[in-house]
Amino acid sequence: MKTDLDGLTALVTGGASGIGLATARLLSTRGARVAVLDLDPGAVPAPLLGLTADVTDDHSVRSAVERAAGEFGGIDILVNNAGIGAAGTVADNPDEQWHRVLDVNVLGIVRTTRAALPHLRVSDRASVVNTCSIAATAGLPQRALYSASKGAVLSLTLAMAADHVREGIRVNCVNPGTVDTPWVGRLLDAADDPAAERAALCGRQPTGRLVTAEEVAEAIGYLASPAADSTTGTALAVDGGMAGLRPRPQ
Ligand code: NAD
Repeated sequence: MKTDLDGLTALVTGGASGIGLATARLLSTRGARVAVLDLDPGAVPAPLLGLTADVTDDHSVRSAVERAAGEFGGIDILVNNAGIGAAGTVADNPDEQWHRVLDVNVLGIVRTTRAALPHLRVSDRASVVNTCSIAATAGLPQRALYSASKGAVLSLTLAMAADHVREGIRVNCVNPGTVDTPWVGRLLDAADDPAAERAALCGRQPTGRLVTAEEVAEAIGYLASPAADSTTGTALAVDGGMAGLRPRPQ
């Protein structure tokens, strides 16, 4: 069966888990050849191509990008999804932690995009989708560093969209709310009362439940597809109504 991503090739960073893995699977199902760049791509299922890469290491990113481009004969879609979290206020996170989170969440996008740009420039279906977060705009408590990193991702998305629009490269981002991924699983496991914490996270979203990784993947898949050919420089919320609606009364 012919699908909308037939003949296209994609890279997904942080694609061995959660949102990235769901996205890699979705792009592959829709016809793209997909490489996953991750610290540990060991468990990535075929036909996805798992490549070891650390987005904080320029050499490692360039090697993996060139390997994927060589194997696939080009790169059309780049999903910059690798990210890490940090809890706390500005009083809590030492400088080293700021450097570490910004290195992964912001500079990781810069490095991977820089490496992929020569390939994106010669594609006639070039698209970049960055995984941002509701944290970029929501003013979440206890997330100063993480929110600042995602605020930078949002601004970077807009700047990249402006810089590359005339080269035919579209750049967008998704803003997920709280998504049911291994990351959130780890947060819940560390909570004093995981069930109560899960209920609190669900209650924070007007839909009353967590977003699924597959729902975020669908949004990324749309932004990456030819159906979104006139869409660039946007942030698509997949947040259970969190940004736009008031929380439901508890
Ligand atoms: P996850 O922890 O399940 O997966 C993240 C993946 O990124 C892992 O496979 C990890 O190995 C990889 N990774 C981490 N550092 C890396 C590095 N330096 N180089 C290469 N790969 C690296 O997380 P997730 O929940 O799927 O989150 C994915 C993205 O979605 C992140 O950017 C996160 O900020 C964003 N996000 C998540 C949520 C949520 O609630 N889960 C909400 C909003 C935004």
